Amino acid sequence: MTDTQQRITHWIDGRPWTGTPERTGEVFDPATGSVTARVDLAGAATVDEAVASARGAFAAWRRTSLSRRTAVLFAFRRLLAERAGEVAAAITAEHGKVLDDAAGEVQRGLEVVEFACGIPHLLRGGHTAGVSTGVDVHAVRQPLGVTAVISPFNFPAMVPLWFVPVAIACGNSVVLKPSEKDPSASLLLARLWSEAGLPDGVLTVVQGDKEAVDRLLTHEDVASVSFVGSTPVARYVYETASAHGKRVQALGGAKNHMVVLPDADLDLAADAAVNAGFGSAGERCMAVSALVAVEPVGDALVARIAERIAGLRVGDGRRGCDMGPLVTAAHRDRVAGYVEAGAAAGAELVADGRTHPVDGDAGGFWLGPTLFDRVTPDMSVYTDEIFGPVLSVLRADSYDAALALVNGSPYGNGAAVFTNDGGAARRFEEEVEAGMVGINVPIPVPVSSYSFGGWKDSLFGDTHAYGPDGVHFFTRTKTVTTRWPDPRHRGIDLGFPQND
Ligand code: NAD
Repeated sequence: MTDTQQRITHWIDGRPWTGTPERTGEVFDPATGSVTARVDLAGAATVDEAVASARGAFAAWRRTSLSRRTAVLFAFRRLLAERAGEVAAAITAEHGKVLDDAAGEVQRGLEVVEFACGIPHLLRGGHTAGVSTGVDVHAVRQPLGVTAVISPFNFPAMVPLWFVPVAIACGNSVVLKPSEKDPSASLLLARLWSEAGLPDGVLTVVQGDKEAVDRLLTHEDVASVSFVGSTPVARYVYETASAHGKRVQALGGAKNHMVVLPDADLDLAADAAVNAGFGSAGERCMAVSALVAVEPVGDALVARIAERIAGLRVGDGRRGCDMGPLVTAAHRDRVAGYVEAGAAAGAELVADGRTHPVDGDAGGFWLGPTLFDRVTPDMSVYTDEIFGPVLSVLRADSYDAALALVNGSPYGNGAAVFTNDGGAARRFEEEVEAGMVGINVPIPVPVSSYSFGGWKDSLFGDTHAYGPDGVHFFTRTKTVTTRWPDPRHRGIDLGFPQND
């Protein structure tokens, strides 16, 4: 570790961990390519320490009144709003996305905190008086215990905030394992929770990679796992953790389609395609990566998108650019490999990101926006989740052909249709196989009072993130049947209880 490299460690028992790490990893500034920090990577012993701390804290936190829990949530909300700029700067420094985009991510996370502030209302159970003579029934929702949250690199603040506020509001404790590529945002959030008055141990942050994840998936004191990441890992997490008796929600990768019908406003559609295809350098699970143009609009739409791409400023996210670098050199090279493969397979390379001008340090992990036209469903640029600034345009002859393409994908995260025809939009809403649908909205991330989640290979488990599903996931229901002694009590009767 050089003098300029910071050490990033775990957050256990309400403070930075002081032990000696088993292993460490490099953290880069993607806009310069330099290593800015080393992050501790937890082995099983450190994960055990974190889970023990969370388990100890759970006992008191679950009994803490809702009004006290809510006070912590409101205080955290205020602190996060005040320090949003600091969190956004930490995201840009390690992820590379431009500052405005990082601030937007914090804002979307803040909305979930606001949702969780309503926890007294959200935890209201039902009560039915007189289900039988002198018998009442009510239901309560109780916390699970120690819940694990495992997050990806692409939303280092927002994805933890999809789960942590709801889990905590419901009375659980949380062990958060952020991506080892951009670990600082989670630590900043943990400090803010502490400042907000959250008792030590209710939120623990364990830095690490597969080794830490594997321990969490099998640890007997972990009650549930909320995972977000790529599909192969999501499937593995779902299978392993559920085989160990845990409640699991595992959100995976995506290949989001945007269908443009012939009657659509083509300028609106072109703006949307560029924003949703290249925002955050395409490193969003809701990025549009496949655009299906229903003829005859293909040529006009591609021309409009190409014109907009030419004007995009790619560069250091701290310099007011539109699009930043990719997260690592290896990922940049992988995405550039897809550009090569698409061209070799015969797709028309309308804009080549490898030659796009860059306003940034030569060592940064750069790749500009790439546009392919006349992509066919057999090409790897279409079949694979590239997770970079590569937009593929496919041409379809009809609405039915476009829908068949969307529904033929193994993924089902988001899907959008652009049209001015309400009937066509309504049909798309009804027929498309995706968990989140946009009508003239390219990135239909639900507001926090709804829930976020895809279908098919984009989500394993049956519960989506945050909103009502979040409360459902982080609690279990107990139904209580009550009878108080009554002067009319009939005495001993060994018959099966009947409702009368
Ligand atoms: P990833 O699957 O490589 O990593 C996700 C998390 O799993 C990280 O914390 C990582 O440390 C851990 N991990 C990585 N490999 C592992 C393994 N073999 N065993 C156990 N744990 C492992 O994903 P990423 O590259 O960080 O993030 C990008 C992916 O996440 C994309 O596929 C994207 O679509 C997906 N994503 C999905 C959503 C969604 O809501 N569906 C949201 C954001 C990102």
